[in-house]
Amino acid sequence: MSDRDKKLDFSTRVIHECLTPGEWEGATMPPIYQTASHRHPTAESLSDTFGGRSADHIYMRLTNPTNRVLEEKLAALEGGAGAVAMASGMAAVTNACMALLRAGDEFVCTRSLFMSTYILFANVFAKYGIRAVMVDGPEPEKIAAAMSEKTRFVYLETIGNPMMDVPDFGAVAETAHRHGVPLLVDNTLASPWLCRPIEHGADVVIHSTTKYISGHGQACGGVVIDSGRFDWTNGRFPDMAPFVDRKGELAYLDRVWREHHINFGTTMAPLHAYLAFIGLDTLALRMERHQENAMKVARFLASRPEVRWVNYPGLDESPSHATAKRMFGGRGYGGLLTFGLADRDQCFRFIDGLELVYHLANLGDCKSLVIHPASSQYLSFPPEIREKLAITDDLVRLSVGIEAADDIIADLAQALDRLQDRCGS
Ligand SMILES: *Cc1c(COP(=O)(O)O)cnc(C)c1O
Repeated sequence: MSDRDKKLDFSTRVIHECLTPGEWEGATMPPIYQTASHRHPTAESLSDTFGGRSADHIYMRLTNPTNRVLEEKLAALEGGAGAVAMASGMAAVTNACMALLRAGDEFVCTRSLFMSTYILFANVFAKYGIRAVMVDGPEPEKIAAAMSEKTRFVYLETIGNPMMDVPDFGAVAETAHRHGVPLLVDNTLASPWLCRPIEHGADVVIHSTTKYISGHGQACGGVVIDSGRFDWTNGRFPDMAPFVDRKGELAYLDRVWREHHINFGTTMAPLHAYLAFIGLDTLALRMERHQENAMKVARFLASRPEVRWVNYPGLDESPSHATAKRMFGGRGYGGLLTFGLADRDQCFRFIDGLELVYHLANLGDCKSLVIHPASSQYLSFPPEIREKLAITDDLVRLSVGIEAADDIIADLAQALDRLQDRCGS
């Protein structure tokens, strides 16, 4: 980046970062390199590439030029030293964790996790003798109490879904570092526009680019971003030595890529990298609108008698409000919220009464989306686990889109009105 670029606002950088003038015949978007493999001029040149002496491309499962531009851009936007793009957010979560885990290891996380991440941590990793020590809140004392000699990292989400809790990453990063382990943060719900965890001390940032980064519900993808700042030679990670020797500050990313990403085959399709690029151009605009709308919708819902409670970090009464304000620097509180109706039947009738808002399993789309988590994503969870995760039968989750706020509110209002009609009749 030039000195001029360093001074640019994030909303300008999110458009222009990594688009070097003169590249790609002057194209304003990176081309989609739809090729499984790359020819090499000499036997020597291919050998150099395999030997790590050149960064040329070999084969699509390993790297792709379109993906590489996305990796450089996302690393720059998050303040990281490097990134690897992957097929999905779950590919990124899995590889980011597995790169550090061996049979018998532990890591510490909060219980407030994305549904598939929860299953991966609680059930799938357990098959390999890996223990996720889940704590009931992100307070540094609780995290510290869960640490042991076997702990390999601490894992958090910027905004827990659907608990809507926001941890103080700075305090948790300090706790993790005091114990000699890195902090990994899934920043999907905030996006780098709202929050950049590396600035608060996180060592690794993960995104599902499927959500706000791509932004239009059009492509699945994920990314692992390495801050390049964690000291892997601190004595706790002797198994990282070969990677440190090879890549220095990017040892962790090298391990994620070399040991896991390319062997598990979690490759992002270059078309999906391209679609994420289109999304990034409008990320700042969209996030501003998502948040403005979410705040209006939260206030509207709080004013309705059918709505028993509203959980949005932007509301003063949210237990996470003060922390979110500090972590997000007053830029906003994201586009996701939850609220409660009387019971499951009322939730179903409300959802079925919506006309504009889509009923589907996703979030971070331009379009407003609604779901009843207890009867869908969390259906297979035993009731006692659902209770611990605050997935109650009365809970509706709303991903507020970027339509006109009045239109979203009018749709919610008419669906709520119908509940009253039925109650009164
Ligand atoms: C959606 C999501 C994921 C998983 O991403 P996919 O692209 O669906 O695999 C991980 N973490 C969070 C916070 C998410 O919202």
